[in-house]
Amino acid sequence: MKKPKSGKIMIIGAGGVATVAAHKCAQVPEVFREIMVASRTESKCKAIADDLRNRYHKDIETAGVDADNVPELAGLIGSFKPDVVLNLALPYQDLHIMDACLLTGVDYIDTANYEPLDEAHFEYSWQWAYRDLFRDKGILALLGSGFDPGVTNVFTAYAQKHFFDEIHYLDILDCNAGTHGHVFATNFNPEINIREVTQMVRHWENGKWIETPAIIDEGSIHFGFDYPIAGVRDSYLLYHEELESLVRNVKGLKRARFWMTFSENYLTHLKVLRNVGMTRIDEIQYEGCKIVPIQFLKALLPEPASLGTQYTGKTVIGNIMTGTRDGKPQSRYIYNVCDHEDAFNETGTQAIAYTTGVPAMIGAMMVMTGAWQGDGVFNIEEFDPDPFMDNLNKYGLPWQVVEHAPLPGKV
Ligand code: NDP
Repeated sequence: MKKPKSGKIMIIGAGGVATVAAHKCAQVPEVFREIMVASRTESKCKAIADDLRNRYHKDIETAGVDADNVPELAGLIGSFKPDVVLNLALPYQDLHIMDACLLTGVDYIDTANYEPLDEAHFEYSWQWAYRDLFRDKGILALLGSGFDPGVTNVFTAYAQKHFFDEIHYLDILDCNAGTHGHVFATNFNPEINIREVTQMVRHWENGKWIETPAIIDEGSIHFGFDYPIAGVRDSYLLYHEELESLVRNVKGLKRARFWMTFSENYLTHLKVLRNVGMTRIDEIQYEGCKIVPIQFLKALLPEPASLGTQYTGKTVIGNIMTGTRDGKPQSRYIYNVCDHEDAFNETGTQAIAYTTGVPAMIGAMMVMTGAWQGDGVFNIEEFDPDPFMDNLNKYGLPWQVVEHAPLPGKV
């Protein structure tokens, strides 16, 4: 039997997602008694702390830390002694933060799987390789507790538990129908976002991965889907990391696809930036300095956390699932609608950060309260979805479930 947790959480990172998670943790003081926000730039942590003091009369601790420096981070964890480390820095830091958690014996949670800095490639294998280490240490790593991955995985687990014996077809549809008033901006870290969406696309069909062109290339697959509230939006087939764990954990799955909406304007900018070399991730020489073009581009683009001031409109993200129950065909669409302006009024950030930071807090709550327990490394769909789904309704991301016609195999 493990000793009960004391309610101490350390949030790493101080961007848009961390800001929302800190707000949401501060709103639940009975679970999160003490909060530390630690990040590379401490002034950003202090700005979050000031906001929480003004809004909730909640004092939190802050620290400057380089999460890639494992001894430094382990030292900070050792002195604050959190029960849970919530990693809301960048995917590059995942393994270093997991190493620091292993050294200090503290549970770990994140929202995005590991990606090496020098290769635009993300997959779970690097983090799954920590399973035995975490199990032997008697600690838990909860992977992918954002919206997608995160809520979309939990929607799948919930549908599997309550509506299906077998899910055969899964389509995850992510629509941002909001407008932020900038000519070109990304909704979360520009470097991570652009690396993700310029990749070759993959989806799962009949036991194997099928590759198709990237969203900005000739032959990309897209169609107009009629989203609740948002209406018809052009939705592009995209590879997204939750597909990797879901095709392992959902038995009987014959096809799994991920779709995301993009505007013509966004795709045109991205194509030009790619074509002129601005999305390159390797170092180039510029007037005697080494620069990485995509990092330079990030410095020019608006900070995602700052987009909220002018953002209007909604996000609509959810899953259409088709399969059988008691031999009869079944189909369900589970989705959430989130409003950019409401998110800004509550937390000072836009809905993309909000829809990620809220489930990050709920995942931390599941671990902190012992609702979810285990030793090892787990994807979020491996736990009981019910308490998480209840908390989505309670903490700002209410969901709907309706019957829905299956999406065709070819769009
Ligand atoms: P931001 O770029 O806004 O914030 C990242 C933060 O991490 C910054 O405060 C940054 O510090 C800090 N950081 C970077 N490197 C280090 C380091 N070595 N040590 C300590 N801190 C560091 O990103 P977002 O808030 O938009 O995204 C956060 C995470 O959420 C990302 O991993 C992203 O992929 C994930 N995400 C997941 C989604 C999901 O649905 N699952 C959706 C959207 C995002 P500094 O301020 O100094 O730059």
